[in-house]
Amino acid sequence: MKKYAAIRQKLLQRRELLVKRMQEIAQQQQRAEGPLSQDFAEQATEREHEEVLDALGEAGRLELSQINRTLERIDSDEYGICAECGEPIAEARLEVLPNSEYCISCAERHDH
Ligand SMILES: [Zn+2]
Repeated sequence: MKKYAAIRQKLLQRRELLVKRMQEIAQQQQRAEGPLSQDFAEQATEREHEEVLDALGEAGRLELSQINRTLERIDSDEYGICAECGEPIAEARLEVLPNSEYCISCAERHDH
């Protein structure tokens, strides 16, 4: 859909960035898998570092799958339509939350 070309482009760039970041995280995780340091304080730091990496990796994976789903919806012309009520989603909302599948009123209903 031509209408969402700009959003699509933005998502593709974001995906590229995420993929790169995930690769860096995976590399750091591999490095972190080595034997723990003998020093207790060091061990604590290493464990914390691993936890941060895991959290980053998890968040990245989640966002990647959201982006992939959004791109599929754009390509199949389902994008911009609320998955619940079928009403068009405001473009201003899509610009701020490009992965949003719901219109504002449905999203607000979910929050309550
Ligand atoms: Zn809706």
